[in-house]
Amino acid sequence: MKKTDLKSLPYEELEHWIVSAGEKKYRAKQLYEWMHRKLAESPGDMTNIPGSLKDRIREDCTYTVLKQAACQISAQDGTRKYLFLLEDGNMVESVLMRYKHGNSVCISSQVGCRMGCVFCASALDGLVRNLTPAEMLEQVYRIRADIGERVSNVVVMGTGEPLDNYENLLVFLRMLTDENGLNISQRSVTVSTCGIVPKMRALAEEKLQITLALSLHAADQEKRERLMPVAKAYGIRELTDACRYYFEKTGRRVTFEYSLVAGVNDTKEDARALAKLTRGPGCHVNLIPVNPIKERNYRHPDRKVVADFKNLLEKYEIHVSIRREMGRDIDGACGQLRRKYSGYTE
Ligand code: SAH
Repeated sequence: MKKTDLKSLPYEELEHWIVSAGEKKYRAKQLYEWMHRKLAESPGDMTNIPGSLKDRIREDCTYTVLKQAACQISAQDGTRKYLFLLEDGNMVESVLMRYKHGNSVCISSQVGCRMGCVFCASALDGLVRNLTPAEMLEQVYRIRADIGERVSNVVVMGTGEPLDNYENLLVFLRMLTDENGLNISQRSVTVSTCGIVPKMRALAEEKLQITLALSLHAADQEKRERLMPVAKAYGIRELTDACRYYFEKTGRRVTFEYSLVAGVNDTKEDARALAKLTRGPGCHVNLIPVNPIKERNYRHPDRKVVADFKNLLEKYEIHVSIRREMGRDIDGACGQLRRKYSGYTE
């Protein structure tokens, strides 16, 4: 019999499981609280749950808890990069960033990734598998427990393409923002996508209040295809239409991410094309000087080029931020830490 993935069950489904296990309904509330509020590391910790139910959980269910395999703490800015071990031996990375306004956790949505963006370390070895809702939640839970402080923001910008793991992502988002769980505000959650148009439209229909970020990286179709193979499937026009649709349905503006790669997408013409494409009230562009990975030859532009690019966008009244380069000293770029520990690199 297939085991029930207990921590991936939304409240109503947990209640259903409890009743079918011959237990009283109120046990679901207790169990949910132990898993998603008190962040219990094992059923053994659940003091008000009867032994018979704990035995049942051990026999019939998987109780997902991620094990911390490594943690690197940046001496520069206190950023922490966690490497977590999954039950099947795979590993995922998550990052804690400390800002004045609170703690932000960046989680992975898949083991590896099949999108193949040329500058990204996560894509080098393809997709291994999707993460379950519990495995996504657990990244936040273990970091919350480790630091003993509230997590105020969650960004799904680690390894993987979240919209390529759509069903599990939705369950995760609902449970993360559930008032009976950590109760993180939907407005404090960001999902970043390389631009899978049909899934962006589906997400708009869910009418969540989360922020959708689109990894654009080029305002020109041909350039975008060179950086991101997924661009061959969806044209820039389709993408911007999907962004508009997301805004119409949710009232939330899509933000644009733009990784600046020296000599590839950092010219004045690139900035003008980007401004033209993204112009509009409330529009936000986040510039990320590319984080070099040693398997590829891409470099980030000089400081001055980045500043000029930003200034030009601002002239066109685009709201621009430059991603603070946090954790540079601790394998900051996506997927680098996992590769190191999996023996791909030294
Ligand atoms: N698959 C999703 C989310 C994961 S990547 C997406 O594509 O949006 C999060 C962001 O980091 C994306 O904008 C991605 O393009 C960018 N990124 C990946 N590797 C990078 C690198 N080496 N330097 C700068 N940005 C990078």
